[in-house]
Amino acid sequence: MSRPINAMFSSRLTVDLGVLRANYRTIASHVAPAACGATIKADAYGLGARDVAPALYEEGCRTFFVAQLREALGVADTLGGDAEIVILNGLDPGAEAVCAAHGFLPVLNADSQVGRWRGLARALGKPLPAVLQVDSGMARLGLDAVAAQALAADPAFIQEVSLRLIMTHLACADEPGRAANAEQLACFQEIRSLFPAAPASIANSGGAFLSSAFHCDLVRPGIALYGVHPHSSGPPMAPVVRLDARILQIRDVEAGTGVGYGLDGAAPSRRRLATLGIGYADGWPRSLGGTGSAWHTGQRLPIVGRVSMDSMTVDLTALAPDTLAEGDFVELLGPSQSLADVASDAGTIAYEILTRLGTRSERIFTGYQTAAAAALETVQ
Ligand SMILES: *Cc1c(COP(=O)(O)O)cnc(C)c1O
Repeated sequence: MSRPINAMFSSRLTVDLGVLRANYRTIASHVAPAACGATIKADAYGLGARDVAPALYEEGCRTFFVAQLREALGVADTLGGDAEIVILNGLDPGAEAVCAAHGFLPVLNADSQVGRWRGLARALGKPLPAVLQVDSGMARLGLDAVAAQALAADPAFIQEVSLRLIMTHLACADEPGRAANAEQLACFQEIRSLFPAAPASIANSGGAFLSSAFHCDLVRPGIALYGVHPHSSGPPMAPVVRLDARILQIRDVEAGTGVGYGLDGAAPSRRRLATLGIGYADGWPRSLGGTGSAWHTGQRLPIVGRVSMDSMTVDLTALAPDTLAEGDFVELLGPSQSLADVASDAGTIAYEILTRLGTRSERIFTGYQTAAAAALETVQ
């Protein structure tokens, strides 16, 4: 689809909501009869939670996981009243009244949080809904077994807190061979049996592709929805995002010409260079300087010299002259280069690449399911 160039932006991130929905269906049918929620923290990993969440709601998703109260408030009005929003980072002091008023489900990660939520329930004279997280061996968030046992032994607890879910999180779900996965599962099953009435959840994307024992009642994938398979092998998830950057200027340089900050990247022969309108302030990693790539119709365009804040330079020499002109876009993520490729070049993980993009690029949503929605297809 050809679009008018938006002169407000030097790069564009295209998010295909149809592919997102297809990924949701793939995971949901893989884990059935367990239910499939969606993790939409960090603005749906940078894709735009206000568009991602309602698309997944239409696909049947009813449980949405955010990290912070602010993220719950930012997305709640895009969802139907039967959707639940779970706040993973827990119940911060002072957040109780807002959480209760909006019907958000705080994850109670510590005794102090349980105590404050129960205090509000008593003051309001009604049980308040919540999720309980236990730490089954990751040492990050959640109650330990002793604290969970004490709660289970306290009959007032289930009168004051309506337990919608008991959950834990896996440290090594992306590595199916690690013994820690089975150990955490066994630890969790033991604690979970203390709260037999509550549904249970253990699996992120990685867990959703471990054995069905990890699916429990609800899975909560994030990265797999957004197009990255959590395991190094396994059926690829379909890519949801594409990133293109505009050519700001093209120049020919003589052999030995240093390029950009520090005059790195000199080469022994004459070259044609293009300066692209994307840099580390757009979330494009500075560590790709001298090693990463842009692409044009399957041809690699190596990054030359350091990545600047707002731009970087690539080598066009391999292309026939006049293939590209100022104002044209080249591919940074798309058919020639995946998130996993960029992550590996940058020495990081696809999550970090994805969550940093999207704040400064034009964000274009495609793949809306209805004609009315398609008419609104360009959203920023
Ligand atoms: C981020 C997160 C998820 C989703 O993780 P992915 O690896 O992106 O699927 C699920 N559960 C918890 C507790 C998380 O913090």
